[in-house]
This record gives sequence, C-alpha cells and structure tokens, in this order.
Amino acid sequence: MSTTAVSVPMPAVPRRRRSPAAVAAAAPVAGPKRVLLAAPRGYCAGVDRAVIAVEKALEHYGAPVYVRKQIVHNVHVVSTLEERGAIFVEETDEVPEGALVVFSAHGVSPAVVQSAEDRKLRTIDATCPLVTKVHREAVRFAKANNHILLIGHEGHEEVEGTYGEAPESTTIVNNPAEARTVEVADPDHLIWLSQTTLSVDETMEIVKILRERFPKLQDPPSDDICYATTNRQVAIKQIAPQADLVIVVGSANSSNSVRLVEVALEYGAKASHRVDFANEIDESWFEGVATVGVTSGASVPEILVQDVLHLLAEYGYGGVEEVVTAEEDILFSLPKELRATLKAAGDTTRSLGGHGR
Ligand code: SF4
Repeated sequence: MSTTAVSVPMPAVPRRRRSPAAVAAAAPVAGPKRVLLAAPRGYCAGVDRAVIAVEKALEHYGAPVYVRKQIVHNVHVVSTLEERGAIFVEETDEVPEGALVVFSAHGVSPAVVQSAEDRKLRTIDATCPLVTKVHREAVRFAKANNHILLIGHEGHEEVEGTYGEAPESTTIVNNPAEARTVEVADPDHLIWLSQTTLSVDETMEIVKILRERFPKLQDPPSDDICYATTNRQVAIKQIAPQADLVIVVGSANSSNSVRLVEVALEYGAKASHRVDFANEIDESWFEGVATVGVTSGASVPEILVQDVLHLLAEYGYGGVEEVVTAEEDILFSLPKELRATLKAAGDTTRSLGGHGR
C-alpha cells in the first residue's frame, strides 16, 4: 500500500531584494500611500467547517487522519494540518482498509462514496452544504428527465463531484466559447447549474449565450455561485477602480482566488497579483503605486493577510482602510459523523478552525 501525499510547495526564498527606500527612489509616488482592504475576505463558512472537521478528527480519533484531496485549496492550511497528522491522498484506494478518511469541502461523486464503502473506510463528509445543495439539484433534475448544462471548470474537484451525480444527464460548459458550440439532444428539457466559485459576471455571460441558443433553458431554483464567492467579488469590484495594484492572497488551485484577480483587472485595477504568502510579493510591483487593494480567497486564513499588511507597511502603505460591502454571519454545523463523537465526548468548543489562523 503506498500513500501519495498531496504536494504542498512552500516558498523557500523571499523575493524581496531592494529596500523600501530604494523602491521609493526608483519610482516616486504622487500622493499618500494607502491600502484598501476588502471585507468580506478570507474564510467562508464551508472552509471553516471543513478545517475544523479535520482538526476535531485528529483531536478525537488521533493521527493519522486521511483526507481525500486537499481539504480546502490553500497551501498553508494543508501544510499546517499535515504537521498535526493529517495525510492527504488523491484517492480512497490509497487509504488503508478500515481507516478514517475525510472528504474535502469540494464534495465527492457517488462513485467515491461507494469506493470508500467497498474498502470499509470510516468517513467524515466535509463537503460544503452549498456544494451538497448543487449535488441534490443535479440528482433531482436528472430524475425529472432534464439535461444539465453544468457551468464550471472541467477537472476541478467540485465539478467532478457534481458531474458524477448524473453523468449520463450532464454536459460541462467551461467557458463562453463552449456555450456557443455545445449540442444537446432535447433543448426543451434543459437546465443550467454551476460550480460555486465562478466569476458571477462570466457565468451570467455564459447563461445569456446558452439562452439565446436554447430559449427554454431553465434557471436553477437559487444561485449556485455561493454567497462567499459573490461577496468577495462585490468587495473587490468596489476597490478595483481606485487601486493601482490589487494583491489577492490565495493558492493557485483556489478557483475563487484566481477569479478575484480576474475581477480586479476587469473592474479597473492597474495590476493584480495572487500570492500564497507575503514573501512572494515582488517589490517592483510597488513602483509608482499609491493605492494597494488587498483581499483573500475563501480558503485563506486571516493570518496570511496580516502578513501581507505588515509587509505593505514596511513599504510605506501604513494607512489601512477597510471597505466593507457585506456582513457575513453564516456558520454551518459540523459533519454529522463528527457531531455524534463530539457530543459523546462533551466537546462543545468550536474555536480551532477560526478566522485567525
Ligand atoms: S466557497 Fe462557497 S461553496 Fe465553497 S466552501 Fe466556501 S461557502 Fe462553500
């Protein structure tokens, strides 16, 4: 039995090479330097729940706890959990028979659940309830003889999971170009669903194209793009027109983080870069820059944003103004498999996964 750990690259060498004074001398900035900090940013309720699920599993069942795929798409979170005894695998057949495995926030297809059952694995399903909602929609609409156009990125774990609920009745639409060419057998029984972490604007563009081609295309009962994705995009849309530079904290495989860079550029930011860690920031980005926008994806702990703010302060961007476009107070209950254990142990705490780390 071999176990393939998910690769977690850590930045080894800080990229900064010139002092703040040297950077300022190279390209003087007209006007005061400032930071516009997006709110909401960072952890969403689904990520919070999934991270706590692994932490509680480690605490109550002991290491190792296997996790299928990265529990959430963030390098720092995954490496921190690895240090505590989590083992990240690509597939359930890498988990020893009878062991405990956690399914990630992105969800799994019925085939993965079946494979875990076949191997007699104990499972904790940390799929975000908002992803589960999309799965249920897929099952329901397929049973009612509809064909589903699933707007999302092929190969992304969430899309694989949703597609796997009704593969015979689902076609993935990756982008506007595919919306212009996709063919369906029965255009009278057609509905679109989507990945939860897409660009709101691009998704609506795709739907518009699809509806022009298939006028009877039905909408899902409620938006599939989740509140956290939407709120983070709204906040950066407000900041972007004023920003010379937008820094998005988030990992390369985090769909919603990558979308934030795209949205920032689309809404007027002169430049935008994604970083996992503050020391990936290249000081040349600051040349001639007065206003820096900062945000983070839904799987990013706040501590990584604070690191970025500290580095910005070193370069003279000390005035931080928070731009608040929504308040979030959503909290999901922990996975049911875990709740029973916590109840039996009298564990009512819920502080491990929170926004501060
Ligand atoms: S981004 Fe949205 S769908 Fe994904 S885990 Fe967070 S709340 Fe759930």
